[in-house]
Amino acid sequence: MILDTAWAVAWMTRAASDIAEQAGELGELDRAIGDGDHGENMNRGFTAVRASLTDVAEDALPADVLKTTAMRLISSVGGAAGPLYGTAFLRAADAVSGRAHLDGDDVLALLDAGLGGIEERGKASPGDKTMVDAWAAAVDAARGAAERDADALEVLRAAARGAQHGAESTDRLLAHKGRASYLGERAVGHRDPGAASTAILLRAAAQAAEA
Ligand code: ADP
Ligand code: MG
Repeated sequence: MILDTAWAVAWMTRAASDIAEQAGELGELDRAIGDGDHGENMNRGFTAVRASLTDVAEDALPADVLKTTAMRLISSVGGAAGPLYGTAFLRAADAVSGRAHLDGDDVLALLDAGLGGIEERGKASPGDKTMVDAWAAAVDAARGAAERDADALEVLRAAARGAQHGAESTDRLLAHKGRASYLGERAVGHRDPGAASTAILLRAAAQAAEA
């Protein structure tokens, strides 16, 4: 599939159903090292996103879809994840503004801008056991693919694999940001819920492009 506005809508629609399906697991992860609401928060947010993307204007660009997603997440998620993902998608929208079809370099720019937004807003770095670990691993993998001149789909697939590895890497980390940071050693052995949701979102982006 060409990465156009229809892809962006398909990404968010798929993200909404995957998050709904895995809200229980995300809640379990957050119950272990947070307050248990991450699944509900994300499901509420992406349900609102899906509802607002049912009639996208004919001349809308991918950036418009990303921007609508950001606004919905900011207004409906609540909790730490809402403003963080909201900022990520706002920055991602800016990174591809004016582009009707995204190539591999656009995908990298989109993801890298999203990561920058999260890092700036949350003041977290890789290794702090947050969604940044999944997002940063996704950007590294996407950059590797883009440098090999991979096409947009390959860059997205690399990002999705990177995000999954990044999420898994949080299992063994101590948390330095967010609620889990109050737990010290007790957070070790548990996956960060936001890193897990990032892996779901980026896998949905690749799957939407494969469809
Ligand atoms: P809350 O912590 O308010 O209950 P959520 O449960 O929805 O919000 O989201 C928790 C997730 O947010 C964490 O798993 C982590 O990935 C992410 N997070 C929390 N604080 C930060 C931060 N300062 N920087 C980056 N990510 C963060
Ligand atoms: Mg929570």
